[in-house]
Formats: sequence, C-alpha cells, structure tokens
Amino acid sequence: MKIQFSPPDITLKEIEAVTKVLKSKWLTMGPKTIEFENKFSKYIGSKFSIAVNSCTSALFLSLKALNIQPGDEIITTTFTFAATANTIIHCGAKPILVDIDPNTYNINTKEIEKRISSKTKAIVVVHYGGQSADMDNIMKIARKYDLKVIEDAAHAAGSRYSNGKKIGNMGNLTCFSFYATKNLTTGEGGMITCNDNKLVKRLKNLRLHGMSKDAWKRYYGVKSNWYYDITEPGYKCNMTDINAALGLIQLQKLDRANNKRRSIALKYNKQLNELDVQLPFIDNKNESAYHLFPIQLNSFNRDQFINDMNSHGIATSVHFIPLHMMSYYQNEFGYQDGDFPISEKVFHKIVSLPIYPQLSDSQLKYIIRTIKKILR
Ligand SMILES: *Cc1c(COP(=O)(O)O)cnc(C)c1O
Repeated sequence: MKIQFSPPDITLKEIEAVTKVLKSKWLTMGPKTIEFENKFSKYIGSKFSIAVNSCTSALFLSLKALNIQPGDEIITTTFTFAATANTIIHCGAKPILVDIDPNTYNINTKEIEKRISSKTKAIVVVHYGGQSADMDNIMKIARKYDLKVIEDAAHAAGSRYSNGKKIGNMGNLTCFSFYATKNLTTGEGGMITCNDNKLVKRLKNLRLHGMSKDAWKRYYGVKSNWYYDITEPGYKCNMTDINAALGLIQLQKLDRANNKRRSIALKYNKQLNELDVQLPFIDNKNESAYHLFPIQLNSFNRDQFINDMNSHGIATSVHFIPLHMMSYYQNEFGYQDGDFPISEKVFHKIVSLPIYPQLSDSQLKYIIRTIKKILR
C-alpha cells in the first residue's frame, strides 16, 4: 500500500469549475474571485475578505497595511513555517521569536510579555495544526501594550476559537493558506479576513500595484475605462479566477472535510493511546480543523520511525524545524540552538501522520497497524 502525506481532494466538480473559467476567457482576477471573497466572508463571519496568491503574500501585505517598517519588532513563534517570520524580515522589521506551550505547540502566552520592548509593534500568532492559540489572553496583552495582531491561520480554515466563532475574527487581520496541502486548496492561494474598512482599501491597493482601480474593473464588461492612478508602489499578489473557481468548490466541501479529519483524529487517539507516544492535546473549548495530526515519540527514534514508515509505503512529515535553528536566523539575528528548549525538545520527537478526508478506513487501519508494529 502507498499512502501519501496530504494529497489534494480534487474531484470532477473542481475540474468542471476550472474548465468553465478557461472557456469564459476571463482568467485573472474577476467575477469568480469576488464571489469567492464574498462566500469566504460569509463562511468565516468576517465583514471582508481579500483574495491573494498565497498566505505568504497575505502575511506580507497585512504587515505592510499595518505600516510595519525597518526598526520595528514583531513577536512570533519559533515553531512555524518560514513564511510567518520571513515576511516580517521582508518589511525590514525584526522577528522576535518566542517558545511554545508544550501541550498545544502554540506560542506560549506567558513568554510574549517578557519580549515586548518599545520597538514592538505587533504579534503574529500561528494556530498550530488548526488548534486556536490562546487568543483571549493574547488580545489582552495586545490591548495593554497597543500592539496589532495578525493571525497566521494557514492551518485553521474552519477552526473555531473558544468563544465559538470561526477563526478569522479576533486579530486585526487573519491570513489563510490555500496551498496544495492545506484543508482548502486553490493550488496556490491565500485570503485575508478583516473587519476594518480602511485596512481593506489599503490591502486591495497593495495587492495590485497600488492602482487606484482593479484592472478587472477597467477591462471587464462593456464600458472600458482606461484611466488609473498609482497611489503607492504596490505589489502583484492578486488571486486569479482559475484559482477562485477551485476555491469555491473546495469551500462548499470544507465543513464535511474537516468533520472527516476530526473523526480520523478520534480513531488515531483511541488506537495509539496504548503506545509510548504523546498524542495531540485536545482543548475542548475550541474546535480544531485538524490540518495536522502530530505525535511525539517518547522513546523511539523519530528519524528511524520516518524511515520505517516510508519503507511500509506511508509518507509522514515534520512540523516544524524551529526557526531559531535555521542558519539565516542564527547569522542575522544571533539566535542559537538551545534558545527555545521546549520547541527543540518537541521538534526532535515530533512527526505528523497522514490525516485527510480521502483517507479510507482500510488505509487508516494499515497506518495504525504499521505504527504498532514499528513501536513494539
Ligand atoms: C503553509 C503555511 C504558510 C504559507 O502558505 P503559502 O500559501 O504556501 O504561502 C504560512 N504559515 C504556515 C504556518 C503554513 O503552514
């Protein structure tokens, strides 16, 4: 048996929706992108959504829209994908890394306050694996020190906070990823949700060259209007209608897909409980979209485990190599191995198992059987 780590769930419906866009001959940002933005807002419960070409772009534009600039310091977790902190560096600001909570693997709220200085402007929070970070307390800290909050919700499309609301509503801006492996995919793509009208205007401007008008509004439809102004040197981060058409179908399936992920997580929990592993901590106050199912191997060698799983045809992955262990972050900012002991300890033991809606019962049984065979 061959089991992939996180293949996209693409059906005839997605193929037909994309074909329709291709036949319409309007390929770039246009009516499908607007429809996707509107439906995404409705799903999340946010006032606005701005579609972009990746979560990396979403994070970068969000920092730009909040006027993050050279000399600023931005607090974030070391236990994340590089995009979370690279985008801070792209603004000329300094990423101030923080260690994680040993149970949830989310940013340790108690450590945030210790790292705040007069230069601190914002906190970028990651909802690791789909489980909400400690948002109530993080928002309290942000209010106390007048900091902006950006949520990296790359793993959390469809997750809920402990207040029952969908993730995408608490920080100033929330960034979603529609990368090929994520819970909702458009191949490549991202979305920013927001409840502030002024920020939306700025983000739409930054998304497309700093143009006073969207290109599609100039060319789409009968009345063409050739005039535009450049109000600032913006970027080229718009979504295309090809991606949006894919996203609209994926959005329809998202709750069903996340429920399937949840039921797989329950089965893993039940079956792996007897083994010498640390299962993901489940906070019953919030609801995870289960983008990941990470386990920690208490005694078995993690790298050996990955190799053994591979030889049985099962792909796994590691989320994440802490950023403070990366050569650029060490050379440029002076971070060192040993700076964040919890992240490092977890990193050496952690492995993400396959979890996605198309995973069949027999595949899941085979994975569980193989894990038991390897660990015993
Ligand atoms: C995938 C991911 C991103 C980047 O998403 P892209 O859409 O590929 O740019 C950012 N943050 C986290 C935590 C991710 O897992």
